[in-house]
Amino acid sequence: MVIAIDGPAGAGKSSVAKALAERLDFTYLDSGAMYRCVALACLERGLDPEDATLTGELAETLEIVPGPGPVLLDGIDVSGEIRTERVTEAASRVSIHPEVRQVMVQAQRELIDTGRYVAEGRDIGTVVSPDSPLKVFLTASPEVRAERRALEAGEEAESVRRSIDQRDERDSSREHGRLEVAPDAVELDTSELGIDEVVERIAGLAAERGIT
Ligand code: C5P
Repeated sequence: MVIAIDGPAGAGKSSVAKALAERLDFTYLDSGAMYRCVALACLERGLDPEDATLTGELAETLEIVPGPGPVLLDGIDVSGEIRTERVTEAASRVSIHPEVRQVMVQAQRELIDTGRYVAEGRDIGTVVSPDSPLKVFLTASPEVRAERRALEAGEEAESVRRSIDQRDERDSSREHGRLEVAPDAVELDTSELGIDEVVERIAGLAAERGIT
């Protein structure tokens, strides 16, 4: 069973999903970390992230453990490496391919079946688990999202904004697993809200729906 937390980069998904999982005693699943692992493996092997067939075949051979704890790619801790700009950019490209998405979605469904999860991503509520009892779509203004990411990465907000815009565009325009709000999702704009407040609201919804 899964509580789905979807939305664009910088909307606060990771902080909120982690804190919510801790509060409810659920397991946190970072689906983006899995796409990042495929991207890293692709770069390490000198493959082109745009090549759907090769990246899809590669994805099938990888052993990815997205947590809890360190992110493991074929048994190696890659928690830091998958957050570099190079991998971030490549992750946005490999995740376009249905061949890659199919493998990731299957692995995510298998994980979710094993317990109670809070999963963050782009397509958790729409594709991975359309029957999730609670779907939340987090948003925030482009300015706030860029500022948050810039602060995390120690980079300049303007260049982060450009990079986020490009990735949003790819996430929103791809044919499979595109970033969109599930019809039954609750939308929350986090621009003016603190993490605690957002977590509080979602925990309230979970209690109302008898999930906790
Ligand atoms: O969430 P995060 O920014 O770590 O995700 C990395 C990349 O993986 C995103 O740019 C997005 O394109 C992709 N992704 C995806 N579907 C998900 C999670 C992430 O396509 N469920």
